[in-house]
Amino acid sequence: MKYPSGKYDAFMNEYEQLRNNNLSLLEARKAEIYARVPELKQVHEDLASGAVSYARARLSGKSCAFDSLEDYIKDLKHKEAALLLANGYPEDSFAPIYRCRHCKDTGFIDGTPCACLQQKMIQTFYMQSNIQKRLETENFEHLSFDYYNTEADGIHRESQYRYMQGVVARVKNFAEDFDEAGGNLFFYGPTSLGKTFLANCVAKALLDQGHTVLYMTSTNLFEQLLPNVVMKRDTSVKNLNTYDHLFEAELLVIDDLGTELITEFTRSQLYQLVNERLLSERSTIISTNMELTKFRDCYEERILSRMIENYTVIQFYGDNIRHKKKKIALSE
Ligand SMILES: [Zn+2]
Repeated sequence: MKYPSGKYDAFMNEYEQLRNNNLSLLEARKAEIYARVPELKQVHEDLASGAVSYARARLSGKSCAFDSLEDYIKDLKHKEAALLLANGYPEDSFAPIYRCRHCKDTGFIDGTPCACLQQKMIQTFYMQSNIQKRLETENFEHLSFDYYNTEADGIHRESQYRYMQGVVARVKNFAEDFDEAGGNLFFYGPTSLGKTFLANCVAKALLDQGHTVLYMTSTNLFEQLLPNVVMKRDTSVKNLNTYDHLFEAELLVIDDLGTELITEFTRSQLYQLVNERLLSERSTIISTNMELTKFRDCYEERILSRMIENYTVIQFYGDNIRHKKKKIALSE
């Protein structure tokens, strides 16, 4: 991973600041509890001196001494837990406070950047000035079925309303089982049926779980980023990092595929991206307004067959919900 000059230090300072703030928070919490339950302070002092004696006994090799010390420390721990409970405090009141428990707010796990640090990089370099704001309203909590048609359309077996309930359940499962199952989603169907919204719901859920997510519209990806990096050899840190994340992010969302200018370059880049992400078992969500036959004609048979083999293919159908929202707003 490449860091722009000065940015790496800024990230490390941020982590240090966070650790210091959380240490102060813990100290303040301790002081408050000691003031209410002075006995706990005594227990902690005994624990501290017990730990010193234990270390000494270990060094001197007297096994009987440290066996009894072990019991002594265990008793003190029980006493601590009982006192906390009796005074209405949670059992982990004195546990260190971390925003990211994976890396303990250091940014690294065994020398490898933690997902929380990688996400900072993505946010800094590309993502989310554009999507972050949208994710506040486009997420599973804000999802509504109000605009979907409850009447059967005479073509499909289920009404749009019922069908979308099934779709949402599948997509929710995808987000919930992401750690164990991974996988990929392919959304297709006419515009304004909720494809982008649902992709954003997954993005938000995974970001909240601490995964790295990169969202790109197809035009950004194929008309700007890839031509700049691959053809014009753009070496700006921002673009190179975003390019790396195309392959490294745990979830990549390519929204509105088919709205870009489709060329030989687009086709080969799409194939490479889809293929490499499959090989490295990284998940992708692709949405397109195209029907499958059109998709096959515009891209390549081999891309469509990769999708069908490796993606959960979900069709969207029914009334355009954007028109419906407008109509309802006008009639109110
Ligand atoms: Zn972390």
